[in-house]
Amino acid sequence: MKSWDNIAKIALSVNDGTKSALDLVNESLSRIEDAKEYNAIISITKERAIERAQLIDDGVKAGKNMGRLAGVPFIAKDNFLTFGSETTAASNILKGFNAPYQASAIEKLEAEGAICVAKANLDAFAHGASTENSDFMVTKNPHDKTRVPGGSSGGSASSVVLGLAPFSLGTDTGGSIRQPASFSGCVGLKPTYGLVSRSGVVAMASSLDCIGPMTKTVGEASLILDIMSGRDLLDSTTIEKDTLGYVSLDSDLKGKKIGLVKEYFDDSLNKDIKESIENLIIKLKAAGAEIVDISLPILPSALAVYYILCPAEVSSNLSRYDGQRFGYSFDKATDLKESYSESRARGFGKEAKRRIIIGTYVLSSGYYDAYYKKAQLVRTKIVKDFENAFKTVDFLLGPVAPTQAFKIGEKSNDPLAMYLSDVMTVAPNLAGIPSITIPIDMKNELPVAVQLMAAQKQDRSLLGAARKIEELS
Ligand code: GLN
Repeated sequence: MKSWDNIAKIALSVNDGTKSALDLVNESLSRIEDAKEYNAIISITKERAIERAQLIDDGVKAGKNMGRLAGVPFIAKDNFLTFGSETTAASNILKGFNAPYQASAIEKLEAEGAICVAKANLDAFAHGASTENSDFMVTKNPHDKTRVPGGSSGGSASSVVLGLAPFSLGTDTGGSIRQPASFSGCVGLKPTYGLVSRSGVVAMASSLDCIGPMTKTVGEASLILDIMSGRDLLDSTTIEKDTLGYVSLDSDLKGKKIGLVKEYFDDSLNKDIKESIENLIIKLKAAGAEIVDISLPILPSALAVYYILCPAEVSSNLSRYDGQRFGYSFDKATDLKESYSESRARGFGKEAKRRIIIGTYVLSSGYYDAYYKKAQLVRTKIVKDFENAFKTVDFLLGPVAPTQAFKIGEKSNDPLAMYLSDVMTVAPNLAGIPSITIPIDMKNELPVAVQLMAAQKQDRSLLGAARKIEELS
């Protein structure tokens, strides 16, 4: 596992001419080539990356400042629309799809000089927690090739930990940034819902989807958030960024109240993870934080609510893949109906079909009131309970998942067991609050991480506290 300089430092060296963007891109591409056995990468955007690197190097030579991310290579999960290679979302149905425009997040990063070098593997359409649902290949955990890197942003997490690029982008609908960050050992931030534009990202469940950075350090995640966040006319759900931005952070925990979520510390939690968190708590107290136990009795319902609302939105969002508009189309169809059904039957993988069927069922007349409507009501209760909790504490702390990275194949034939690995990550998506994964320990030669949550729009203070946890770990 090779490392990179801090992102801000790389950009400074490119801007002062001591490093060339082209060398950085070539370094990243050669690391990607060397790490092929991990199956982290679906495609590279070599030609475009080299062109952009040359433009940046020429700009520097002409005396211009090329931005806060000048020449910094990065890897985007393959559900971000990007130029330079296909965008597949790791699904056969999107093979051969070339994006007509780029995701707003990518545009913002490029405007600061960052260079996308590759697209990372994921569970197809981001449905999953291990990358085993990718239609193409299974990504391996950077610490143990027999284990999963987590998912669905497993390729993005693995890429950062292997040092293929200084940062990557992920998406998080129910934990897909935070859980792979925890399994693979990097920082993963799911910002407040709406803080980063979803425009140009393949939609999974639109009321839950969030975009965020995966990095080696909290400070680097803050910089990337600072650049990607804010209102975007192409996504009406976006909100303004914090007027103070996310770069200069307040990391002082003196007098801050951190709630330990009781429901996340039950018997299902792995003992090693529990022990690592207990050690962290001792250090947090020494740093001046007040630690209190807090209970959110609604939390055990969050997973059931998620697995009704998420498939409902998935079934609606996936209706656009009909063999007519995007990607794969069954060319032997004799009429439109056959084209729809055969294109979808052949193009979608097992998990996408499962979610379409569940989603259509919970939305169907007769079952809508019993499932979808009820789940919406419980979601509102979850939102309220978090709001109330943040009236008494500044942050909530807990594990990211009940276990460390599991073995490849361990849960792939048991969808319910796989869904259970999301039990600690789905609630922040339902509540729209920011949440971050911070690696704190290594146990059994695998990473252990914690999840820190804050109230909506408190991303700045969340990042400050996360940086302190990083420092103490
Ligand atoms: N693992 C969760 C699921 O399968 C979350 C996925 C995600 O956040 N994209 O739905």
